[in-house]
Amino acid sequence: MHLHDLTIKNFHQGLLKKEFSALEITQAFFDWIEKRDWETGAYLSLSKDLAVRQAEAVDIKIAKNEPVGVIAGIPLAFKDNILIEGRPATAGSKILKDYTASYDATVIKKLKKAGTVFLGKTNCDEFAMGSSTENSAYKLTRNPHDLSRVPGGSSGGSAAAVAAHMAIAALGSDTGGSIRQPAAFCGVVGLKPTYGAVSRFGLIAMASSLDQIGPFTKTVEDAAILFKEIAGYDSMDSASSPLSNNYGDELVNPRLEDIRKLKIGVPEEYWVAGLDKEVAENVERATKDLQSLKAEVKKISLPHTKYALSCYYIIMPAEVSSNLERFDGIRYGTRQGAENLLELYKRNREAGFGAEPKRRILLGTFVLSSGYYDAYYAKAQRVRRLIRQDFDEAFKEVDVILTPVTPTPPFKFGEKVADPLAMYLSDIFTVPVNLAGLPAISIPVRQGSNVSGQISSNLPIGFQLIGKHLREADILGLGQYYEKLYL
Ligand code: GLN
Repeated sequence: MHLHDLTIKNFHQGLLKKEFSALEITQAFFDWIEKRDWETGAYLSLSKDLAVRQAEAVDIKIAKNEPVGVIAGIPLAFKDNILIEGRPATAGSKILKDYTASYDATVIKKLKKAGTVFLGKTNCDEFAMGSSTENSAYKLTRNPHDLSRVPGGSSGGSAAAVAAHMAIAALGSDTGGSIRQPAAFCGVVGLKPTYGAVSRFGLIAMASSLDQIGPFTKTVEDAAILFKEIAGYDSMDSASSPLSNNYGDELVNPRLEDIRKLKIGVPEEYWVAGLDKEVAENVERATKDLQSLKAEVKKISLPHTKYALSCYYIIMPAEVSSNLERFDGIRYGTRQGAENLLELYKRNREAGFGAEPKRRILLGTFVLSSGYYDAYYAKAQRVRRLIRQDFDEAFKEVDVILTPVTPTPPFKFGEKVADPLAMYLSDIFTVPVNLAGLPAISIPVRQGSNVSGQISSNLPIGFQLIGKHLREADILGLGQYYEKLYL
């Protein structure tokens, strides 16, 4: 079997049939990374020693005919803001250049226990702030479909690693779109789980009321498998939901009769000026495909959508400014010599943070400062409630909401990086979901079915399915049947 064809599902089957060993596949991935990653730039660090040990452990179990789980031996990549004990975790920032994680994130603990193989850590925008991975303090990551274009962000390295077959799957984090947008740009599947479904313990915090960890995979089925493994209640995360222990088999084995009952809403507010024609056509094409499954599609309204981006760019920086306080040059950061404590903080933060975190710390402290708090932060919280209520109302009528993921196809390097507002606009269709805490998935629009005719597009384009709170099963189920149309 070729690396390009490997999914979680067929890897597991091949492993059990002894078509290959976990170690052979692991070696093959490292060979491929060595050969290709100089041009893609997906990885920041590799963990070959760890991966080899993990793969060998799986192979020993198989040789002894001991049972192994469905993700045992799967080679994975991790965004560099997720902690793995004894490994670097830079979060794409210079301030964490020499930092080594002292404990495992909860998702890492779960995946170690399940026997997965850790290939390495992937590039991202600094502290997950950005939509192109150009804000990484380390390097550029290129879109494997067109090297002159960005992979999206902030989890661009994870998306590119999966798209370029340098991992079977990967984890990223999504605060305002950082899983779904790069997934759409790189032509892979990306799931942002319900807020509280996957533990954030051991994720370097960006904006705590919005952050979620989720999977990048090649198929929706794989996303369901991996999500099921990482979800669940964790007492180490104060926002963790006990209900996240209740996800069942329907995630991975949806029934067509259930999927056909789903009503899909298409919100008129997402078809805005500025939506690229090719994106619109592709999303309409996916809509027709879903209709062919006999799911009902109807128009809905989410009236406060137009305030979501401004609301996000107040609440998120407010939380960023407090989460980034800890990088003071004492516990973290390369300590710069200074006369006194204040000077030490200032020098260290000045030298360690790039422009985007600084911009957001400034914005965040401003919107929280006395005199402006009510006008900005408190008001944004009220708007957040309205956005959430829009979804509550819509979900009385429909089960799933279908939208574009991004207003444009993947853009070129340098196109937006000098203009923060242009960059922020890339998040227009993804941030409402984080503000409402809902699950959403980005699925590549497939080409070549005869259901709805061909639209030629060389660049990947995704569509988004948004589900009710804790109803990942609906969006994953619908997505799995969408993919079956193309098998
Ligand atoms: N691109 C968005 C931002 O810059 C989202 C980031 C994220 O989800 N981590 O804030």
